[in-house]
Amino acid sequence: MDKFGKVSFIGFGLINSSLAHIFKLKKLANKTSAFSRRIETRDKIRSLNIVDIVNDDIEDSVKDSDLIVLGVPVGAMESVIKKILPYLKKGVIITDVGSIKKKLVDTLVPLLPKDVYFIPGHPIAGTEKSGPESGFPELFNGRWCILTPYSDTSQKARDKIKFMWEQAGMKVAIMDAEYHDRVLAITSHIPHLVAFSIVGTVTELEDQLKTEVIKYSAGGFRDFTRIAASDPVMWRDVFLNNSDAVLEMLGRFIEDLTALQKSIRWQDGESLEKLFIKTREIRKGIISEEQD
Ligand code: NAP
Repeated sequence: MDKFGKVSFIGFGLINSSLAHIFKLKKLANKTSAFSRRIETRDKIRSLNIVDIVNDDIEDSVKDSDLIVLGVPVGAMESVIKKILPYLKKGVIITDVGSIKKKLVDTLVPLLPKDVYFIPGHPIAGTEKSGPESGFPELFNGRWCILTPYSDTSQKARDKIKFMWEQAGMKVAIMDAEYHDRVLAITSHIPHLVAFSIVGTVTELEDQLKTEVIKYSAGGFRDFTRIAASDPVMWRDVFLNNSDAVLEMLGRFIEDLTALQKSIRWQDGESLEKLFIKTREIRKGIISEEQD
């Protein structure tokens, strides 16, 4: 596959900076440019030396670009698209890395002219860290990237984005946007919500108990704190924009939690053990798929 012409990274945090590392390492583009809204972030990007140019204006970054990768929080995608719309080159491919897909497709597609090709994407890889300095090229290695093209998406543009993520070491799957959001609600969004909730409960405890929890956190709580340290804006936007799927899965989760509560109250060890045996199997499955 041919390499890319000019690539513009709009928003430059963990995900786009990691991808920019790949572009640099593999020389995937003739020219790379980045834009981020705050001057402090742009200064950080300049000091990292991962892209050819860091633009102070979004217009300068996107004009003449053959590929634009949107790496901003989901709630900011629409306003970014509206800003760049007047400067888009005919035939440009736009992709995004947002964690939810249906609402983005529904909102962004009607805004775009016919000669602009939009390929919605979600690399399922991340850490709890944010910002351009937290990116690293191995982030995507061996993980899945889900593309959710819609009915009139160009096959050529889709292949190009598939190629890009494969260069980053990802396995690429094609999925319907709504289905993607339901899958991610249970694999990612609910687990994050549980972590935010448990760690939130600790913030309400009286001081003495809180100190003990932090001191003895290795008993499980510590793992929740890592997840609950994820970017607040990104996660706010995920829950606001995937509310239907999250509320549906949350309903199921609460029912199952209530069943566990009952088993404990009734001293029903058999039910508890049966469930814990089943959950162990899920972990084994993840390990055998090399997704641990
Ligand atoms: P990040 O490290 O927090 O960086 C966010 C970037 O977006 C920064 O360049 C920031 O600019 C910019 N930004 C924030 N709010 C904005 C706004 N209102 N308008 C315009 N720009 C704004 O984010 P990230 O973790 O790379 O996530 C980026 C996207 O990837 C999100 O849509 C997220 O859902 C998705 N994603 C994240 C993960 C993950 O684990 N982190 C995994 C997969 C997908 P300034 O710094 O200049 O303010």
